[in-house]
Amino acid sequence: MEKAIICDIDGCLIDSSFLLKEGKNKGLKDLALFEYFDKNLHRAKKLKGSKKYLNLILKGNRKIIFLTARSEKTRAITYTQLNIFPPLIARGFLLKMRPENNTQSSAKYKENVLKKIMKDFEIELAVDDELTNVEMYKRNGINAKLWK
Ligand SMILES: [Mg+2]
Repeated sequence: MEKAIICDIDGCLIDSSFLLKEGKNKGLKDLALFEYFDKNLHRAKKLKGSKKYLNLILKGNRKIIFLTARSEKTRAITYTQLNIFPPLIARGFLLKMRPENNTQSSAKYKENVLKKIMKDFEIELAVDDELTNVEMYKRNGINAKLWK
């Protein structure tokens, strides 16, 4: 089976957390907050420390699978953002995104996708900046690293 690494995007390569803070400061929550996030995602920036993260995920010759809780609606802008990392483009990657009508927690959504990915790939490592996601990977027997 092909070896793979599962990678998160926000908080690892891209800094978008300020958008959620902005939205919350405007009194937005739930769906309205996520809509604000999606609409403003083009303002997200390369995260400081992203080079170190990139080095980690490019190491070895594993298939790179981005598993993000971002909505499918943001696929185009997400590709644009990943395009600012030339080594990633050179290697190629899969991008798994949350279907538009999916309202599961990030960990639950990622767990469902993980179970499908595990049928096709041997997951050597998963990296995420959210502890709940890292714990979910570990519960599923995956070697996982908290990125911070
Ligand atoms: Mg994240």
